[in-house]
Amino acid sequence: MFSRELASHGRAFVNYQALSQVEVKDMTIDGFPAKLFFNPARVRSVMADVSPEALQKRACFLCPDGVEEHQLTHNWDSPTGHTYYIRVNPFPIFSPHFTVSSSVHERQELLPHLESMLHLAKELPEMTIFYNGPMCGASAPDHMHFQAVPRHSLPIEDHFSTNYANAILVQEVDLQTHLAAVKKVLAIGTIPEEASQTGSLTAGASHAEEYEPRWNIVSWYTPSPNGDSVESCSMVQNSVELSAENTTLHHSTQHYTTLHNGMFHTVIFFRKESRPQCFFAPEEERILFSPATVEMGGIGIVANRESFDRLTPSKLRNIISEVADEIV
Ligand SMILES: [Zn+2]
Repeated sequence: MFSRELASHGRAFVNYQALSQVEVKDMTIDGFPAKLFFNPARVRSVMADVSPEALQKRACFLCPDGVEEHQLTHNWDSPTGHTYYIRVNPFPIFSPHFTVSSSVHERQELLPHLESMLHLAKELPEMTIFYNGPMCGASAPDHMHFQAVPRHSLPIEDHFSTNYANAILVQEVDLQTHLAAVKKVLAIGTIPEEASQTGSLTAGASHAEEYEPRWNIVSWYTPSPNGDSVESCSMVQNSVELSAENTTLHHSTQHYTTLHNGMFHTVIFFRKESRPQCFFAPEEERILFSPATVEMGGIGIVANRESFDRLTPSKLRNIISEVADEIV
């Protein structure tokens, strides 16, 4: 589908060609490898006005009536019963880059679609699937969608560390066990603020007027090499224990000794702010940076030259801590 659509030389062709011209700056932030991309074609996403008034005025670009002439659609039926449209993202960050949107025009909300996200990760082990919350980078918060990009696109996939205070990694062999474990972590976002503050955890202070806690989620599936069963593996992860009085975050190394053919991985970022202060700063200091999953995962995207030049590793670090909800 990807090569067929590019062959039609439409908007996607132009933007994927431009992707090879993207300037990249490598950065190290607290030992974590990050990258900054200067990608002028992303200006529409970085600057997206997602206010209810603006959404009312525009045609939905994820609904069949709103797609452009050259856009192809592949229908994917999830085992959960939902159907999704898989399309080439016309404003890519990576190549290839797909949108996976619900066949129904319904609001961006994770929980009814989380299981499908995991099935998709397993069906596409060469891709990483991510979800931007309605206040955390989604440019179509009125239409439920995921995105799919090549595996290893995000530094967090290969460099997760328990020192990385902004993220929780969940890893399980079985889909349903993994789903339950992820939901347990997500529940932090829905517990009352007072309860979360009694523990070491400050994450998940719900925003009263919003229907979903602020989060970015990324999932992928690693099959075992050659399809053989893997006897055991060990990994570091952050896990969370919830009880009536307390919420505690543990850093631990888990040793799996079960036979398995692959494993699910999900990273959860809790968010405090939608956009950083510098986004609203006066022109001469302004940095047009609107963090979503990709940014939380270690790839910064800016759409203008001034922002690219102004963003230093320490500024990027400060922006990420400003918009993230620290979980330790
Ligand atoms: Zn729609």
